[in-house]
Amino acid sequence: MPTVIVATGNPGKLKEMQVYLNTLGWRLQLKPEDLDIEETGATFLENARLKAAGVAKALGQWAIADDSGLAVDALGGAPGIYSARYADSDQARIERLLKELEGKELALKGDRTAQFICALALANPAGEIILETEGICSGEILLSPRGTGGFGYDPIFYVPALGKSFAEMSPAQKDANSHRGIAFSQLLPEMSKLALG
Ligand code: IMP
Repeated sequence: MPTVIVATGNPGKLKEMQVYLNTLGWRLQLKPEDLDIEETGATFLENARLKAAGVAKALGQWAIADDSGLAVDALGGAPGIYSARYADSDQARIERLLKELEGKELALKGDRTAQFICALALANPAGEIILETEGICSGEILLSPRGTGGFGYDPIFYVPALGKSFAEMSPAQKDANSHRGIAFSQLLPEMSKLALG
């Protein structure tokens, strides 16, 4: 069974990534805590590539990385690639975003539309990117948090087609509809064809 290093330190992400990757029969291992790759890219895809390639090369093993975040239209795409660095805790990040959108109309007018974006990159032990993709989930930023599931910005991200915030969805429902789920569904057929040495 091939071993693949998951290049993330975010437990919420890891939990979701494991669900998709388990179907491949790969043995997943979390990257060592002290191995930190600087996210100096200008896009989600650049950062995912940097993390996957950096971890793969440092350990001489296959590595997969996710870089993801929330892009709010009324804020010119912010917090975007800075979603994790927007404030010090999930709660503080949510509070800051709601404050930035104060006075903006509810979703009907499009003032609170947003996209969750997830870039994935898979690198071989030499640090070369073998596969990559990007998944996007469109929604709206709620006026106040709803639901208790998930992680990060989930309680304020509402998907109109499902009538629920990410935090109100069951794990299976979020997995099937989220930016990460979409990205994995694009990548899984290719990944299952790979013979990892
Ligand atoms: P990264 O670890 O640099 O990719 O940062 C991702 C940021 O976006 C973190 O603040 C996450 O909480 C947030 N984020 C990414 N995906 C999700 C999600 O599925 N739900 C809620 N927040 C997310």
